[in-house]
Amino acid sequence: MARRKKIYEGKAKILYEGPEPGTIVQYFKDDATAFNAQKKDVIEGKGVLNNRLSEFFMLGLSQIGVPTHFIRRLNMREQLVRSCEIIPLEVIVRNFAAGSLSKRLGIEEGTQLPRPIVEYCYKDDALGDPLVTEEHIAAFGWASQQDMDDVLSLALRVNDFLSGVMLAVGIKLIDFKIEIGRVYDGDFQRLVVADEISPDSCRLWDIETGRHLDKDVFRRDLGSLTDAYSEVARRLGVLPQTAPTKPTLIN
Ligand code: UDP
Repeated sequence: MARRKKIYEGKAKILYEGPEPGTIVQYFKDDATAFNAQKKDVIEGKGVLNNRLSEFFMLGLSQIGVPTHFIRRLNMREQLVRSCEIIPLEVIVRNFAAGSLSKRLGIEEGTQLPRPIVEYCYKDDALGDPLVTEEHIAAFGWASQQDMDDVLSLALRVNDFLSGVMLAVGIKLIDFKIEIGRVYDGDFQRLVVADEISPDSCRLWDIETGRHLDKDVFRRDLGSLTDAYSEVARRLGVLPQTAPTKPTLIN
């Protein structure tokens, strides 16, 4: 059997060369990391859940006309995506204060923000993904002004979509992070939502109880991460209603 070529291994995913040119296979690992990988664990079933949840969100986005890199899910842990050039920014959208924003500005977690706030961090693990402004992005040539106009509008569309989908199942979208990639069609480039959208990269709170249903469960030792992610998947109909704690997936 031919061995496929590994392109990159990150904290939560491995990327392999895809079957056709311009495609990549994204493999979702069970590894969980936090605080720039200072805290690590293996959470059985996390990769399977994130593969399914990311598929669900990416398909929903393309159904409302937001371009993504997603092509199709291949199996429990893998999905086929379009290869793209990732803009080296973490695009964060916040609806309620939490995490680093609460610390930085002294705003109590859970406080509703006057409007969605979009922030950019420069993707560099060695530097701890520092917060940057559009001045830095333009001056260092990480993205053009046209790119940034498109990034902002994509980020806000993703926010409206995810907020609505979550609200419908009793979950408040506190904040999330996305990554944006460039794809080339002949002489033209366009931007697509890339990487993943999952409870690893969102803050999700139950509307009634305030229960955390995201990676803060791992970051802050709040219980079982698999239970939290399974609950999100179950509410969205990605898992059967009677799902046990270990993910039993429907096709
Ligand atoms: N986030 C992420 N990857 C990162 C940093 C942040 O997915 O490397 C997500 C995080 O899960 C949260 C949002 O972006 O949903 C805002 O994170 P914040 O800046 O508050 O950072 P944290 O408190 O996690 O350090």
